[in-house]
Amino acid sequence: MDDEALLRHSRHVLLEEYGIDGQARVGAAHALIIGAGGLGSPACLYLAAAGVGRITLVDDDTVDLTNLQRQVAHTTARVGQSKVASAAEAMRAINPDIVIVQHAVRADGALLDTLVASADVVLDCSDNFVTRQAVNAACVAHAKPLVAGAAIRFDGQLSVYDLRDPASPCYACLFPPDAEYEETRCAVMGVFAPVVGTIGTLQASEALKLLAGITPSLAGQLLMFDGRRTAFDSLKVARDPHCSVCAQRAGG
Ligand SMILES: [Zn+2]
Repeated sequence: MDDEALLRHSRHVLLEEYGIDGQARVGAAHALIIGAGGLGSPACLYLAAAGVGRITLVDDDTVDLTNLQRQVAHTTARVGQSKVASAAEAMRAINPDIVIVQHAVRADGALLDTLVASADVVLDCSDNFVTRQAVNAACVAHAKPLVAGAAIRFDGQLSVYDLRDPASPCYACLFPPDAEYEETRCAVMGVFAPVVGTIGTLQASEALKLLAGITPSLAGQLLMFDGRRTAFDSLKVARDPHCSVCAQRAGG
């Protein structure tokens, strides 16, 4: 780390739990962020600011006027641009020293298989059940830690599935892929902007902790945020022995 990098990251380096070793680990790490919308915006900005050495963004959408109320990485001038290009511009403006890889496509199984294999942490900032399941399946297959967030209306939720640990549940242990869910997408639903900001910021927090080696993570708990009451609740979550996705994992 040169003097300028040391200054840039000094307020993390000064943290006893983080230190210069944590910053070095963060700088050498690859974070994969699926979705550059409401959750992905704060997540990608914080990870860029923290100096995560390589950040890959995947999103097939373009910036729309209706996004700007909550997707804070984007700007009025960038309406019509791809979200990954817009977010990358915002990230570079904060920190030009990192590598940003852009994929302006939908995160399908084949792409995720390639990208997850080389990631140190995966952030699911997507807005639909199909993508969430595909991201989880790739993280299970490659035993990578997954930080999954979701937000709709005034409600948010967050968990870490640390799939390096054979005892850890996967996303599908809680939300089976064959279950029927009412798909509520924020493309058509109301969403209170600071709730996505809160959850996306907490995703960045958990991802940085995993990369820097700060324990404990949120693994084994599902955190729920109620933006009306400004209250957090959490549930303990365990691996489902009948989960169809992680049945093949060691210890399953
Ligand atoms: Zn599972």
